[in-house]
Amino acid sequence: MADVNDVNIIVKWSGKEFPIGDITEQDTVALLKHEIFKKTQVRPERQKLLNLKYKGKFAPDDVRLGLLELKPNFKIMMVGSTEADIEDACCKPEGLDEVVDDFDDPEEVAVENASVYLAKVQKRVRDYTITELNPLREGKKLLVLDIDYTLFDHRSSAETGAELMRPYLHEFLSSAYEDYDIVMWSATGMKWIEEKMKLLGVSSNPGYKIAFYLDSSAMISIYTNDRGVIDVKPLGVIWGKYSQFTPQNTIMFDDIRRNFLMNPKSGLRIKPFRQAHLNRSKDNELLKLSKYLKDIAEHCDDFTKLNHRKWESYNPKK
Ligand SMILES: [Mg+2]
Repeated sequence: MADVNDVNIIVKWSGKEFPIGDITEQDTVALLKHEIFKKTQVRPERQKLLNLKYKGKFAPDDVRLGLLELKPNFKIMMVGSTEADIEDACCKPEGLDEVVDDFDDPEEVAVENASVYLAKVQKRVRDYTITELNPLREGKKLLVLDIDYTLFDHRSSAETGAELMRPYLHEFLSSAYEDYDIVMWSATGMKWIEEKMKLLGVSSNPGYKIAFYLDSSAMISIYTNDRGVIDVKPLGVIWGKYSQFTPQNTIMFDDIRRNFLMNPKSGLRIKPFRQAHLNRSKDNELLKLSKYLKDIAEHCDDFTKLNHRKWESYNPKK
């Protein structure tokens, strides 16, 4: 592992101090702002970091923190308003979180300085606590599932879990469970994941058992030249904690391809399930994917040899 030095910064804002961890000298100012946002809810474009200077001017987003020569526990003075404050003051900004700017081709996006991100993954392996809900089973492969728009439509206005659930969810999970240990990974907080799994009847279904849940704090933030800072789900967090799981026996479903950025070969982008009330009668993705999971479990002993983009035409006899 390359030598990556942590940076510890304290942000002073609105009369309070916020320690910012989880960043290194290799990270950019943009990533620092993203971390500040997580702590303060002040969006990066609204943050003014008064004393964060580079060559006498406000430090630009793409400058690496190592170049700023900050002292340990450097205090940044920040000015900026949270969205909630702004909403109170004027009207609600529209559609902020509905826009998904996805990558078409993460393989082609060079994750610059990958050693920095590997260091972050190592940190998660060390510091993120996994609560096993059910014991892992010997000889099983690993299936990692996104929740929102993959397993259910969390934005539909339906009232019950059954109405929001993607068709064939329980059949899909029951079938997958025969060959795979199953993990849910969602970019929200643990409380929400637990609530959703209860609502959908996943946590109580007798046909299968979920091994554990991972939430947003198991994700890492990375900086890309094209898209700025994004949060991704690195499978290395699981592989680092459980040596029986490797790229050779792991597959992950998500409706957002950029979540695979750290492990593009292991990801299968599933069609998002939206507008549950309109699509419930015709969506059979999970049924088709059940068959794919079964086929590859039986016929493929190294998943890195598969091309999940072509899953629909996979033919085990070839
Ligand atoms: Mg999703």
